[in-house]
Amino acid sequence: MNTKQFYINGAWVDPIDGTDLDVINPSTEGVSATISLGGQADTDAAVAAAKEAFKSWSLSSKEERLDLMKRILDVYNRRSDEMAHAISDEMGAPIDMSKAAQAGTGTYHISSFIKTLESFEFDRELRPNTPNDRILYEPIGVCGLITPWNWPMNQIALKVMPAIATGCTMVLKPSELSPISGMLFADILHEAGVPAGVFNLVNGDGPGVGTRLSGHPDVAMISFTGSSRAGIAISKNAADTLKRVSLELGGKGANIVFADAPADAVAKGVARCFNNTGQSCNAPTRMLVERSRYEEAVEQAKTQAENTAVNLASESGAHIGPLVSQMQFDKVQGLIKKGIEVDKARLVTGGLGRPDGMESGYFVKPTIFADCHNDMIIMREEIFGPVLSMMPFDTEEEAIEIANDTDYGLTNYVQTEDGAKANRVARQLRSGMVDMNGQARSSASPFGGYKQSGNGREGGNWGMDEFLEVKAVGGWNSDA
Ligand code: NAD
Repeated sequence: MNTKQFYINGAWVDPIDGTDLDVINPSTEGVSATISLGGQADTDAAVAAAKEAFKSWSLSSKEERLDLMKRILDVYNRRSDEMAHAISDEMGAPIDMSKAAQAGTGTYHISSFIKTLESFEFDRELRPNTPNDRILYEPIGVCGLITPWNWPMNQIALKVMPAIATGCTMVLKPSELSPISGMLFADILHEAGVPAGVFNLVNGDGPGVGTRLSGHPDVAMISFTGSSRAGIAISKNAADTLKRVSLELGGKGANIVFADAPADAVAKGVARCFNNTGQSCNAPTRMLVERSRYEEAVEQAKTQAENTAVNLASESGAHIGPLVSQMQFDKVQGLIKKGIEVDKARLVTGGLGRPDGMESGYFVKPTIFADCHNDMIIMREEIFGPVLSMMPFDTEEEAIEIANDTDYGLTNYVQTEDGAKANRVARQLRSGMVDMNGQARSSASPFGGYKQSGNGREGGNWGMDEFLEVKAVGGWNSDA
C-alpha cells in the first residue's frame, strides 16, 4: 500500500493538495509511516465520486447490500491480524489486546449490522389498517464520516457498515494519528468489491479535510466521533448547509460501588478504567464508593493499579501500552499535576513521569487519586489516560447526584447485588448507557450519550436510522 495515496472512486490515487505527515509509533517514538494530509481539491473529488455513486447505490436492493457486507466480513476476518498490527503500531494498543478487542470490534460490528439489515424494514405501514399510508426509509445521501484514533476500527465499522446497509455513499476521514487502519479497511472493502464511489477515503486533519467535509454543500450528513471541542466546531460549520450532524463525544463515567457490591467490583472497575490505557470515551473514570467500604476500596484500587504492567505495544501479554501521542502524554501529565497541586487530591499510587525504567515512548504510570470531590479538575475533565479518581458517598441519592453532576452523559456503571436498587439507580442516571455488575450490553444495542457526550446512537436499528430519511406517502396503492 502506498500510504500517501487516497481511495477515491474505486482506486488508489495520488493527492492533489497533499502535505506529508509522519505517523509516529507511540511505543518507540519512531516514524512508522508517512501519509498525505489532503486539501479541498481531494475532498471535493471524493465527495463528487460519492455523489455520482449515490444515484445507483441508493437504489440497490437489500440482497445486494447483504451480499456485499458478507463479502466484507469474509475479507476482514482473513485480514484481521494485519488490522491488529496496523492499529497496534499506529496508536499503541498492546498486540494481544489489539487482536482480540481493537481488530475484534470490526468483526463484531460488521456481523451485527448484517443481522440488523436482514430484519430491517425499509418500507412500513403507518400502523395496522392504514393501507393507503406508507412510510419509506430512504438513504440520506453522501455522508462524511470523521473518526478518532482511540478505537479506530470500532468507530469506522460503526459508521461505514450502516452507511452501506442503508444505501448511502460516503467519504471517510480517519484520524490523522491512526490513518493506516483506515487505509487497510479501504483495501478490504476494495477486495470485497464495493462499487466505485460508494466508499471513499481521504486522509487529513480537522482544519483541512474535516472542515471541508462538514461545510460541503453536497454532503447531507456528518457522522462524527471525537472530542466535544471538534463536535461543536463541526456543528457550527455544518449549520450553514443545515446538514444532519450525529455526534459521539467524550465522557466522564461514574462507577457507583455500593457496600453490597461483589468483592472484585473495585479491581474490575480499575481494570475497566485502564483498558486501552484509559483512552476510551466510556471509561469509568470516577469511582464513587459507599463510605463503609471506601478505605478498603482505595487499598484494592492501589493494588490493582500497582499490578497493572506497562510495556511496549509490540510485546505479547496483558499489559497496557503507551498513550497515543506526545500531545496526549503532555495533556495527561498536566492533568495529573493539577490533581496533585491544584486539586490537592490524595495521590494513592502513580503520579508524574514515565514508569520506572522507561526512557522513551508515551508511557504513563497507572494512577489513583482518592478523597476527590466533584469540583476537582480531575473529576470534571476527561483525562484520557490510566488515571482513576475516587470519592466516598453516604446515600443512594447522593451517589446519583454526584454521578449526574457532569457536563457529560455517556456511560455510568452500577455495582450492587441488590437488583431492585440497581434498576432504580439505572433509571435515574442521566447517560445514554448504564452497565451494571460488569455485564456487557448485547450487540446491536444503541451506543451514544446525553448532554455534551453527543446526540448520536450507533449500532443496531438506531445506528441505521442515523443514515435514513423518513418519507410519508399518502394515497399508497397497496394492491400495486
Ligand atoms: P478529536 O476531536 O481531536 O479528533 C477526532 C477526529 O475529528 C479526527 O479525525 C480529527 O482529525 C477530526 N477533527 C478535529 N477537529 C475537527 C474539526 N474542527 N472539523 C472536523 N474534523 C475535526 O478527538 P480525538 O483526540 O481523535 O479522540 C478522542 C476523543 O474522542 C475523546 O474526547 C473521546 O472521548 C472521544 N470518543 C468518543 C466516542 C463516543 O462514541 N462517544 C468514542 C471514541 C472516542
